[in-house]
Amino acid sequence: MASSSVKVAVRVRPFNSREINRGAKCVIQMQDKSTCIINPKQPKEAPKNFTFDYSYWSHSSEEDPSFASQGKVYQDIGEEMLLHAFEGYNVCIFAYGQTGAGKSYTMMGKQDPGQQGIIPQMCEDLFRQTADNTDPDLSFSVEVSYMEIYCERVRDLLNPKSRGSLRVREHPIMGPYVEDLSKMAVTNYSDIADLMDTGNKARTVAATNMNETSSRSHAVFTILFAQHRHDNMTSLDTEKVSDSSGAKGMRLKEGANINKSLTTLGKVISALADMGSKKRRSDFIPYRDSVLTWLLRENLGGNSRTAMIAALSPADINYEETLGTLRYADRAK
Ligand code: ADP
Repeated sequence: MASSSVKVAVRVRPFNSREINRGAKCVIQMQDKSTCIINPKQPKEAPKNFTFDYSYWSHSSEEDPSFASQGKVYQDIGEEMLLHAFEGYNVCIFAYGQTGAGKSYTMMGKQDPGQQGIIPQMCEDLFRQTADNTDPDLSFSVEVSYMEIYCERVRDLLNPKSRGSLRVREHPIMGPYVEDLSKMAVTNYSDIADLMDTGNKARTVAATNMNETSSRSHAVFTILFAQHRHDNMTSLDTEKVSDSSGAKGMRLKEGANINKSLTTLGKVISALADMGSKKRRSDFIPYRDSVLTWLLRENLGGNSRTAMIAALSPADINYEETLGTLRYADRAK
């Protein structure tokens, strides 16, 4: 098995109006790759310090040179992952963090200029690069799917009429997959934007109560990108398929019990990270313990490249959750 490499980034969002109204204070500080968090109840205690591949600041104004724009996040993480997809790796980018911490903003963003998230920028870039291809023997195909995993059940976000959950099966070569999940062929970015829009509207409505501790709904947007090479000498076609997934964890109202997907995802990522750094041999990775990790098996381990972005609130009122998110991200390194 090829070694798996995980890039870990954290991103703090600006204060929201609720935090401003409550006079919240900023407990996060960032410098280069390091992020530290101050315990608002114990301000004399030494701040807890973490180092990641990237620490993205956006708490102050956009004029601040350390401010991480959507473009910067894409250039650092998206461009590298897209390059790996062209190389034939399975690529997985996922966002983790408390509700309202900025997962959707980072992954999807907004339509306004300069506000697009990683997924739309990556899709635009993908089509731009395939359009630039001048090799007559090389052709490409792109298909997308979009699902939600909620309480260990899978829903098709591109076919909201399909009530109930879909079956998860295992193909002897391709690995785990969702039976009957819609796969839409797309030829340009606006096709993808329409499908993302449809899927986002079909998502289970998330709660606004920020004090709950578990998230049980995960959105997985998959881009199946195949490169076909036709060999004129042999008239044979070869194909390189890569699967790029963006997963987003989102917390829901009923989320009182322990979240199996996130706990297992944490275990899988840290086991893979240990394997990569030779701290552990390729023994047991607990993919099977949750639907999310089982379905992402081929994207997380094996021939894959993974990036994780942990979304943080800057506010003292979210200290415990934010510290939990930082610890989770720290284990993934
Ligand atoms: P989540 O998906 O984690 O629940 P959202 O992405 O919906 O959270 O973010 C909550 C709000 O904060 C949204 O209004 C979003 O536009 C805003 N926001 C999040 N991150 C940023 C950021 N880095 N810069 C500016 N606004 C942000």
